[in-house]
Amino acid sequence: MPQERLRVGNVEILALSDGLLEFDPCAFFPTVPAAQWAPYTDHLTAEHRVRFNLGSFLLRSQGKTILVDTGLGPVPAGLPAVTWGKLLEDLAAHAVRPEDVDMVVLTHLHRDHVGWNLSQQEGKVVPTFPNARYWLSAKDWEACHQEALRERFPNAPTCVWPLAELGLVEFMEGEYTLTQELTAVPTPGHTPGHMSLLVTSQGERALILGDVMHSPAQVQEPDWASRADIDPDLARETRRALLERLEREGTLVAAGHFPPPGFGRIVRLANRRYWQGL
Ligand SMILES: [Zn+2]
Repeated sequence: MPQERLRVGNVEILALSDGLLEFDPCAFFPTVPAAQWAPYTDHLTAEHRVRFNLGSFLLRSQGKTILVDTGLGPVPAGLPAVTWGKLLEDLAAHAVRPEDVDMVVLTHLHRDHVGWNLSQQEGKVVPTFPNARYWLSAKDWEACHQEALRERFPNAPTCVWPLAELGLVEFMEGEYTLTQELTAVPTPGHTPGHMSLLVTSQGERALILGDVMHSPAQVQEPDWASRADIDPDLARETRRALLERLEREGTLVAAGHFPPPGFGRIVRLANRRYWQGL
């Protein structure tokens, strides 16, 4: 069974999941014809669909418990059985209580990364993680308020905006130090303010990728843009540069939408890059 915990120097990274989503690959990667998937059927289900994990990561660093991304969120009443909405159960299964979380860090503000930020309690909106403050990109905060981009952030009005009224928001801008062992690094394109998170401890490194890639096939095909990339050209540029750097530096990667737990490396074999899951 793949390991669900990764140690990076003194930091422990635990892979968590809010569930799974599946799509028709041609719908999710609209510029990639079905035939181009032929070499990558290993990355599709038996029914030829792309399956995305809704991964979050829980970091323990210098006495702090840090949750990166909060999934798609609770399942609305009346919806038939769905394959998501499991993050709090997964936390509980690992003996983590919501009140144990000190920091929530959001790689970006798309709906499948902010869903459990807030909860309803006796008709009031409260933070799901009552002792945490929430770090998010200033650029994405601006973007999710822009009329032209509003439909790209459909649950921001309920899952993100109230954080400010509750006085819980911390803005990240540029390369941003979260702790001595955790730095947010701008990786724009998927969203304007998208951030990946670099973990460095005791000379070891890992990168929490966010949505720079959705499928391991994109390691070989960095030009494949998903329908969720707001600026596909910038996303491609970011993907190429990051893949180059991750391969060169041998950095461990934690990829939330890759098959769980999403830990691996970018390796080169026969002059091509591959995703090598741990
Ligand atoms: Zn996503």
